[in-house]
Amino acid sequence: MSKKIWLSAPHMGGEEIKFVTTAFETNWIAPLGPNVNGFENDLVSYTHRKHAAALTSGTAAIHLGLTLVGVSQGDYVLCQSFTFCGSANPIKYLGAKPVFIDSEMETWNMDPVLLEKAIVDLAKKNIKPKAMIPVHLYGMPAKIQQIEAISAKYEIPIIEDAAEALGSTYKGKNCGNFGDLSVLSFNGNKIITTSGGGALLGNNAKVIEKARFLATQARDNAPHYEHSEIGYNYRLSNISAGIGRGQMIVLDERVAQRRAIYKRYERELEHIEAFTFLDEPSETFSNRWLSAILVNPSNSKGLDREAIRLKLETLNIESRPLWKPMHMQPVFKNELVYTNGVSELLFANGLCLPSASNMSEEDQTLVIDTIKGMFA
Ligand SMILES: *Cc1c(COP(=O)(O)O)cnc(C)c1O
Repeated sequence: MSKKIWLSAPHMGGEEIKFVTTAFETNWIAPLGPNVNGFENDLVSYTHRKHAAALTSGTAAIHLGLTLVGVSQGDYVLCQSFTFCGSANPIKYLGAKPVFIDSEMETWNMDPVLLEKAIVDLAKKNIKPKAMIPVHLYGMPAKIQQIEAISAKYEIPIIEDAAEALGSTYKGKNCGNFGDLSVLSFNGNKIITTSGGGALLGNNAKVIEKARFLATQARDNAPHYEHSEIGYNYRLSNISAGIGRGQMIVLDERVAQRRAIYKRYERELEHIEAFTFLDEPSETFSNRWLSAILVNPSNSKGLDREAIRLKLETLNIESRPLWKPMHMQPVFKNELVYTNGVSELLFANGLCLPSASNMSEEDQTLVIDTIKGMFA
């Protein structure tokens, strides 16, 4: 079997091991320490957010973010339907109810028009959502300014899910710096990784301090262990944060590499009539975390998304359908949803191509030639 070509593999820069070694030499093997502080500072200076708390995962960051804007049992939370379950599951951890909002075709993210319709419609049922979770999927910034305007108009705070969008910008402003609180993920498949990790970012020092407090079992200030609130064990380890510090050094390089892979796919495959690529709208800069195509089955010689995926699989090349919308997931079948058909269409016809920043030119050529061969 030929060597596997991954969808999105970790890509170390070389400096990571030095931060990890320092942690070993100083015996800072703990869920706090100098690397955690250093990594938080790196995130703040990169995104221009004022404060950051490094956590065990992006999902944990969403959970704390929702908690900090006051979501609790029985509340409603507006959530992009076209996303990974990590965006939505924490709503249920809190006993709250998701209301899924479909996407628009320009960015594949939360449709602001449908979002406002949903808010107005829910108001008629005396429901006022407590938060909204837009996502920048595959690194493509959502129509975030329009979403922020709706958030301000109806006074519903935004938890920005920027888990896939570190390094992306909208009108020159970093993803991770929109809305009331922002979430990042450093899972192994993301644009940079700490092997597993996440962060919650915000501009209010007290709120992020509270996040750190909740993330360390809500331990009150006392010599013994005193607790007046329920907390979580969500703090990032000093070892993982060391990897993160090394990865921050190469983040812009990783963005450039992912963008180059996307550009090459586009250049070499856009002549295939059935394919559509997701262009960057004006003033939008995507980190191109994953390169994705849409395959129109009506003009693709009987070949659909699955045919391409299965063909690549025979060559040990990993590709993946786009995210299955949350409103189509069995676990969320009883939740409220506002649809327009977009995410269902994207799920039916979309494919993520191998996009790792350390993917060789030859491997890219193999993927491209295989697909070209199918449509020749
Ligand atoms: C990866 C991801 C998350 C969750 O991050 P984890 O660190 O894996 O918990 C949340 N939302 C989106 C859109 C993601 O891609």
